[in-house]
Amino acid sequence: MTSSVQLNPDIVVRFAPSPNGLLHLGHAYAAMMAHDFARARGGQFLLRIEDIDSGRSRPEFVTAILDDLRWLGLGWDGNVIFQSQRLDSYAAAADRLKALDLLYPCFCSRSDIRHLQEEGLQPEGPDGPVYAGTCRHLDPQQARKRAATEPHSWRLDVAKAAAITGPLQWTDERHGLQASRPELLGDVILVPKETPVAYHLAVTVDDARDGITHVVRGDDLFASTAIHRLLQALLGLPTPIYFHHRLLCDEEGAKLAKSRGSASLSVLRLAGKSGQDLLQDFRQGIFPVGISLS
Ligand code: GLU
Repeated sequence: MTSSVQLNPDIVVRFAPSPNGLLHLGHAYAAMMAHDFARARGGQFLLRIEDIDSGRSRPEFVTAILDDLRWLGLGWDGNVIFQSQRLDSYAAAADRLKALDLLYPCFCSRSDIRHLQEEGLQPEGPDGPVYAGTCRHLDPQQARKRAATEPHSWRLDVAKAAAITGPLQWTDERHGLQASRPELLGDVILVPKETPVAYHLAVTVDDARDGITHVVRGDDLFASTAIHRLLQALLGLPTPIYFHHRLLCDEEGAKLAKSRGSASLSVLRLAGKSGQDLLQDFRQGIFPVGISLS
């Protein structure tokens, strides 16, 4: 941090990777954006490992994330935060929503969902197919009975929730003031069948718990913010300011993803490349061949 930047305790930003794989150039860009946003304003930069999916998270990916960030020269403040150590607080938040009668059990299997999609009953939303609402219409008593024995997830009844909160807004420093449209994402799962909590609930609870004032993350999560804003209103949590940044894309304009073969940072690191030089280039708008900003 340069000495001319005054420390500002009112700015807290985080980078929140999921250790489900190795980080790639898109993650390096996202981490840099959050880090530089905090440092330019004298704020704190926290690192939160979003390891709620015990089936997909791996300790070796956590180690690689920490090594990659050090290699990039992106230092974080305080201890690394692990979501896997906070499961109680997510369960408490889910219980509050259940007490408000805003969650309903969903018994749909993957093949049920696929079927609904094939039938054209699940319109495409900004974040994937929107759930058709099948289990929202189950008789509540019967649903409770089935929930005692059958595997199920818990979905947020978005229309019911939005009727309680009324219209909501949030501010994005890049995109401007947003009228929240959670209905575009539909009844998202907050407690999945196989894992203790879903991303939307964990991230909302944690951004409040960690005192995050500015959520700096990629445009791929822009639409999700409407759900986070709704959960903040329901759970009485503060609303941070958002900054959704552009994404690094490949030659076809698709966001970089490991599944599409984007090189991992650890490959570059272990090949002896300089992570700090890489980010200096990024800061000047210089990207490797075939990669550009959305
Ligand atoms: N854990 C999420 C991911 O890796 C990011 C969470 C966020 O920045 O809100 O995509």
